[in-house]
Amino acid sequence: MADPKHTSSERDSLPVITDCEGCGVCCFHMGYPAFILPREPMTDEQIDANPELVQQIINDPRRREELKAGHPGETFWHSLPDELRDEWKAFVSQYQLPKYGEDPSTFDGPCIWLDMQTRRCRNHEHRPRICRDFATGSPECYEWRAYYRDRISLNRPAAN
Ligand code: SF4
Ligand code: SF4
Repeated sequence: MADPKHTSSERDSLPVITDCEGCGVCCFHMGYPAFILPREPMTDEQIDANPELVQQIINDPRRREELKAGHPGETFWHSLPDELRDEWKAFVSQYQLPKYGEDPSTFDGPCIWLDMQTRRCRNHEHRPRICRDFATGSPECYEWRAYYRDRISLNRPAAN
């Protein structure tokens, strides 16, 4: 995931918040709900034959052990209604990173489940683990609010 890298003074100038009303900016760069999918354990030979996986391991050597261990898939993927799972698969199979003008950013576009009018998740009860773990008011929350500060709803009441 991209790192917005803002200074502490930029973050500190933002109002303290206790809920996500009118915000939603941490979903602006997700592209689609990031479920951890079930995957079979891989052998070293299978991994080394895949250039994309080899590059991932160069970027983060821990990736090899993850691939060799496999994963049963997160709970919220398995409990997802069939129509949402089918919609997700169809979208991801066609997905391409958007290009942002002269700068081909590594950021994904807004999550397909984000309602840009309400700034709420359209399927909040089915959101993946990563979204549930992202805490309102956490340092990461402030990073993204600093990055997208000009796109946070002006109608949002400040908590202090
Ligand atoms: S950036 Fe923070 S306040 Fe905004 S939606 Fe995400 S968790 Fe909520
Ligand atoms: S699944 Fe919902 S909470 Fe998670 S990034 Fe998408 S819109 Fe946001």
